[in-house]
Amino acid sequence: FELERLGIHESVAQVFPPAELADYLADLPVAVSVIGDDGITACDAVVTLEYREAVLEVDWVHSIQAGVDRFPFDAFEDAGVVLTNSTGIHDRTVGETVAGYLLMFARRLHVHVANQRERRWDRPEWDAAFTLPGSTACVVGTGTLGKGVAETLGALGVDLRGVRRSGDPVPGFDEVYANDRLLEAIADVEFVIVTVPLTDETHHLFDAAAFDAMRDDAYFVNVARGSVVDEPALIDALEADALAGAALDVFEEEPLPESSPLWGMDEVIISPHCAAYTRDYFRDIGDIVRENVDRLETGEAFHNRVV
Ligand code: NAD
Repeated sequence: FELERLGIHESVAQVFPPAELADYLADLPVAVSVIGDDGITACDAVVTLEYREAVLEVDWVHSIQAGVDRFPFDAFEDAGVVLTNSTGIHDRTVGETVAGYLLMFARRLHVHVANQRERRWDRPEWDAAFTLPGSTACVVGTGTLGKGVAETLGALGVDLRGVRRSGDPVPGFDEVYANDRLLEAIADVEFVIVTVPLTDETHHLFDAAAFDAMRDDAYFVNVARGSVVDEPALIDALEADALAGAALDVFEEEPLPESSPLWGMDEVIISPHCAAYTRDYFRDIGDIVRENVDRLETGEAFHNRVV
């Protein structure tokens, strides 16, 4: 197809100002503009966060997220619309966020911040704080996020175990288990970190049985998608002290409802789906879009094509 008009949909504003990306791509040999819902069908390609039915009328849609679970693949296929995603860029951001969660738990920093709000000088119990070297994290999903988490935690002295479908070795992981040994892989580690995409296969992968398999003093981290976790089962495990705590960036319902008991738990760290945020986000997206515009011109296959 001919690419003449590229629209930056206003929904990307949830992550960065759309105009920043439009400026960054201004030197492309196509017209780039920021668009609302009514401008979609006038474009040949759209860069977006959210799904709209109107995008089925353009030729190419680029998701500014790695996870594309919000897009109906079959409808894209039927309409002959190309879908590309933004995997490959969130290794360092998410890796550092996860390292931050682990350091907060180990060094009790979240407790100090909570105490500070109350002007309370209160030291932890003598045996509450610990250091990371010698602990093991099991990272479930060894793609971009998983590798980024492994690299960042590896530098902090954490031993890394990975879980992937094949069980084949991955650089940065001391050992790798196949999916069918998930419960065994998470049974004896201090940290379990979820980095898989949400698919039919991974929906509620972390259920009561998984939390039951984990150590009572283990921490659970989810930076993937909310529905990879059976959230009521997680809440039950936390309330029963069957886990030490959790750091959660993603939830079954977002924004996390005010009524969720997770908000009130001392050993739960909540971040509002921003583990991958960085002031450079629009540049990372721009580089993927530029690469694909180049490829389109030379007739090469799209980078990060999903449909
Ligand atoms: P990626 O494609 O690089 O890696 C995903 C990995 O998961 C791949 O190695 C894939 O083989 C593996 N996988 C797929 N299904 C699996 C299964 N059933 N069992 C085990 N492994 C499986 O993607 P990524 O960039 O690492 O992102 C992963 C997911 O993390 C995204 O789909 C998205 O949902 C989520 N994400 C969240 C944030 C955030 O802000 N919290 C940011 C980026 C990505």
